[in-house]
Amino acid sequence: MFKYAGVIINNESSKVDKAFTYEIPESMRACIKVGLRVKVPFGMGNRIIDGFIVELFDRCENISRLKKISQICDDFTIIREQDIKLINIMREKYMCTYLDCIKLIMPTGITRGMKHKMNKVLSIKNKLTDKYDKEPYKDIFNIVQDNDCKYTKNEISKKFNISVSSINTLVKHEFLDYNVKVVDRYNERIYESYGEKKLNAYQTEAVNRIMEEKTHKFLIHGVTGSGKTEIYMNLVSKIINKGEEAIVLVPEIALTPQMLERFKGRFGKEIAVFHSRLSDGERYDEWLRVKSGKVKVAVGARSALFLPFKNLGIIIIDEEHELSYKSDVTPKYNAIDVAIIKSEIENCKLVLGSATPSIETYYRCKNGDIELIEINNRADGAKLPTVNIVDMREELINNNKSMFSRELKENISIALERKEQIILFINRRGHSTFVSCRKCGYVFRCEHCDIALTYHSESKKLICHYCGEIRNLPSSCPQCKSHYVKYFGVGTEKIEAEVWKQFPNAKTLRMDYDTTRAKNSYEHIYNIFKNGEADILIGTQMVAKGLDFKNVTLVGVIAADLSLNLPDYRANERTFQLINQVSGRAGRGSKEGKVIVQTYSPTSSAIIAAAKNDYLGFYKEEVQMRDLMDYPPFKKILLINLSSKYENLLIKNIQNIGVILKNILQKYSNIKILGPCPCSISKIKEMYRWQIIIKGNFDYKFSCNIKKVVYDSIKTDYNNIRVSMDVNPTSLL
Ligand code: ADP
Ligand code: ZN
Ligand code: ZN
Repeated sequence: MFKYAGVIINNESSKVDKAFTYEIPESMRACIKVGLRVKVPFGMGNRIIDGFIVELFDRCENISRLKKISQICDDFTIIREQDIKLINIMREKYMCTYLDCIKLIMPTGITRGMKHKMNKVLSIKNKLTDKYDKEPYKDIFNIVQDNDCKYTKNEISKKFNISVSSINTLVKHEFLDYNVKVVDRYNERIYESYGEKKLNAYQTEAVNRIMEEKTHKFLIHGVTGSGKTEIYMNLVSKIINKGEEAIVLVPEIALTPQMLERFKGRFGKEIAVFHSRLSDGERYDEWLRVKSGKVKVAVGARSALFLPFKNLGIIIIDEEHELSYKSDVTPKYNAIDVAIIKSEIENCKLVLGSATPSIETYYRCKNGDIELIEINNRADGAKLPTVNIVDMREELINNNKSMFSRELKENISIALERKEQIILFINRRGHSTFVSCRKCGYVFRCEHCDIALTYHSESKKLICHYCGEIRNLPSSCPQCKSHYVKYFGVGTEKIEAEVWKQFPNAKTLRMDYDTTRAKNSYEHIYNIFKNGEADILIGTQMVAKGLDFKNVTLVGVIAADLSLNLPDYRANERTFQLINQVSGRAGRGSKEGKVIVQTYSPTSSAIIAAAKNDYLGFYKEEVQMRDLMDYPPFKKILLINLSSKYENLLIKNIQNIGVILKNILQKYSNIKILGPCPCSISKIKEMYRWQIIIKGNFDYKFSCNIKKVVYDSIKTDYNNIRVSMDVNPTSLL
């Protein structure tokens, strides 16, 4: 039996980021296990605090001053043994603490004493005596008899309109009794059953390959509408039948009611749902449902990857290119990378799916790390929509200054007349604005980084947010000398106003960050549109995802330039993906679909390839570019971001760090340092923001060392400066 345990302390400070050795009291030795949560005395005052056992050993030097574990907290382990390995890898890879990783794994709230929710429900104790065998008692008695242990006192009172005092009387005279029942906090909506479909030949082949081949990692590259969801569900059934379990990740689940509808409709109560909008109580209950083996399938956002299944058979990640798989809070992990590691540790299958795989993932396929399965047809025989590119410069020449081209306007009228539905899409993200020439489409870019320069309205300057180069805003276009040089600004509200002006009878719905902040509001908008109660859905990225509406025949991309000119090396990729995905919403039924892409850069290869649905053509060109410019997957990017309320202090510190790092990096010829420079969004919530970018081929030891250098350098100003470090961040805004 083990006598000593390594314990990670539940304390945020990075100073305690190691396993502390504790002695296991004899009485606990029989039941102590790796992964248990325990109470331990900690620090000078021996305050009792939560900890997590990560290792056990029977010998230990220097035992004289060892403290003892005070208590075991739960009758189940919080961390599975397999997770210990994952935690160790993630801690290095994402430069975070053990506790940061453990927090991903344990149910929030458990260290604050969260428990199951218990309800006092009513049941029958004794038969009514003659004296009470009359109304209202008879009625109450019958209700309780019919709903044994189902309702609480208040529920019965409300539901059947009965006075609480009559119920109290029955309890007092021991006709009724209270029972304590555990209730699931996750309020299960009942979903319509979603029947199994007979797989077509492509789907069957995909399923067979995944189940039968020895390989573990697959990418299903299937065009929009190729029936990937049906493949996922089929795989999940097979895995459950083998007695194993499945995790299905979808991009932020609250945003994809359709996936839930399908999975719940097929698997019913057998699935857990896990996403960021659940309350702590709901998460706790879903976590325990998994832990106790009551459910075999979890569908959720990236955090569902860490649910405590015993015998995981498959991890499926839908829309694997989505940015929401990368965490933007510490630990800043990428769920795709973690899923790959996890599938190797647990020896389970990994299936990634997308119509527009990320360059990184496709590159892994080309290298043979992941096996590629391609599907080029829509499952139900529907045709892919035709995509027309409209040159907005021509519109200007023809004196059309509206944000709708003549072609788009005409097609909106036609669709409205036919009572078909329309999606208008604006691919705007963040607050970044670029400057372009409306006559010829010229965009001001940084020559060193090939990134669109960002316009700063206060200083009226153009800044490159990769390398920090600053330029004045020219008054005319260097290409065509026109003076119609302007920054770009358009949002969903403006589009909606324009629709109202031009089509006063059309019923519109807006789906963007503002209209979907409240709980269930996305689902609400989704249902209104699904039921045909609105003609035009206007939205951001959210409308590009997974929606499958048969009556949508027209999709308009208002300004493809918005994502094309993001200050981000992934701008081309994002544009290709967004256009391709949103196009995929059109023509899903029997009617043919049409997509109109408006742009000032009609010669952009990303836009042309997206219009032709030519992923491979796009990939080939883009991957060359990435190689040439030293971007992922060829080189890593380490983003060091400092923020502070005090601008001068911030600048002093980051410049100091810049000098130190440049000194250190001198000897590495293949590692470059860019900046320091102000971030694209130079101030958020009163905090000024600056960044340094390190680009090159380095390993995790290297980035951990850099982290140490950064923290050591700001030591004296530590309390006034916030540091964030991120490897291959999704955004450099
Ligand atoms: P994807 O996720 O690949 O974009 P979906 O899973 O949404 O595609 O499927 C597109 C449509 O095709 C859905 O309406 C779905 O019900 C239908 N579908 C899928 N598989 C089949 C099949 N084997 N037979 C008939 N229809 C199918
Ligand atoms: Zn011009
Ligand atoms: Zn630059």
